[in-house]
Amino acid sequence: MTQLPLDVPTDLFIGGEWRAASGGDRIDVTDPADDSLLARIADATAEDATAALDAAVAAKQEWAEMAPRTRSDVLRSTFEAVMDSADELALLMTLEMGKPLAESKGEVTYGAEFLRWFSEEAARVGGRHGVRPEGGADMVVRPYPVGPCLLITPWNFPLAMATRKLGPALAAGCTVVIKPATSTPLTTLAVVAMMERAGLPAGVVNVVTSSSASKVSKPLMADPRLRKVSFTGSTEVGRILLEQAAPNVLRTSMELGGNAPFLVFDDADLDTTVTAAMQAKFRNVGQACTAANRFLVQRGIAEELTARLKDAVDDLVVGRGTDEGVTIGPLVDDDTVAKCVELTEDAVSRGAKVLCGGEAVDGPGHFMQPTLLTDVPPDARICAEEVFGPVLPITVFDTEEEAVAMANDTELGLTSYLCTSDMVRARRVTDALEVGMVGINIGVLSNAAAPFGGVKQSGLGREGGSEGIAEYQTLRYSLTPL
Ligand code: ADP
Repeated sequence: MTQLPLDVPTDLFIGGEWRAASGGDRIDVTDPADDSLLARIADATAEDATAALDAAVAAKQEWAEMAPRTRSDVLRSTFEAVMDSADELALLMTLEMGKPLAESKGEVTYGAEFLRWFSEEAARVGGRHGVRPEGGADMVVRPYPVGPCLLITPWNFPLAMATRKLGPALAAGCTVVIKPATSTPLTTLAVVAMMERAGLPAGVVNVVTSSSASKVSKPLMADPRLRKVSFTGSTEVGRILLEQAAPNVLRTSMELGGNAPFLVFDDADLDTTVTAAMQAKFRNVGQACTAANRFLVQRGIAEELTARLKDAVDDLVVGRGTDEGVTIGPLVDDDTVAKCVELTEDAVSRGAKVLCGGEAVDGPGHFMQPTLLTDVPPDARICAEEVFGPVLPITVFDTEEEAVAMANDTELGLTSYLCTSDMVRARRVTDALEVGMVGINIGVLSNAAAPFGGVKQSGLGREGGSEGIAEYQTLRYSLTPL
């Protein structure tokens, strides 16, 4: 078994204790670069999941009534512990998820920021006070924690997806059961161990790892003591959870799929555009719901931009995320590689040309060649489906109206990118795009201080910013006659 860079618990964390699953089963966690074994983690049963909720329910009053400053201190101390172990956590993430080490380091800083940001928000409990318009009474509105939450996270950002939910939930005074993705649970387990050392009371955070997500989530969603589910993952699973949330009228936060268009207008600065495009497409090997999925490029700049992008794609280095100089790590599994190949072949069958890549890489691990496609017709499947891999398809347009219509021609609406030197155009197009986030002349826009989230079938709710904590709060209004 590969030696891990830091001590990672491999058991379930329930009521402040690390314990094996009640059925005794274990799940292999492997390195996607070569399928070598990294750890064997506990495979929770439905009974374990219920025990985790029992613990969250038992801890909820104490945590809700704790001084906001004390909750803030736990988050702040965890932020510091994460930063102190930044190199080890980055390596752990690269081992379990595959992204290049430099990107894992970036994720540690980004992910830790949610702990610091929400440690600050935790102490700023708002509310409002007013006078009844008819007079003679005080109106007071105060936030309260919504109650025990189920947090379900994906594999593509093992640290940030956990902290982006744990930070606001704990800051608001909620207790939680967190279920990390089956293939990348180690980073969450390591961070929760840091929370424990930072003084987190027993039962406030409970971790259940499982080979079957629904086996543990279903009984919890059906339990009336659970009050909220926060999920990041595919739109398909989001719909299932929304259905399961209906009987108990659960609060929901859903960060679902994206189909981000990357619009480039004739007046865009080429250097800025190439940098932004490469980041938006190839960061995390394209495995991000915010990743640019389709490039819509105005005719006057298309030829020169395509040539520049070809040079940049040719310079990418495929390999193990831990190797020096590697910029494209493995994909999560063979299905993801197969989907990249399938969507490329579909585009080619409809007239697209392959300028680089186009095929899976032979050998161990799950690698895809970085791929650049031109002349992609808007009806190609890749323009409608999330590719989640290193494939960059270019479609040419003539007018701004045409570009906006193509950009909005999707049921999803998470992120959009646009490159232009005309800031009036940038504002106008931003207004016209049906999305939750827009990167203008930049390829990465997530930030702990900003509300992350989408419209249409990309989800419900926002994570981060001052808005993020509200997802875990409910309001109570009281009236006092004077
Ligand atoms: P992705 O694989 O793109 O991250 P998924 O939606 O498949 O997206 O998975 C995201 C998270 O949701 C993971 O933790 C996964 O285990 C979990 N999950 C998958 N299917 C279900 C389900 N039916 N019910 C609850 N959670 C699920």
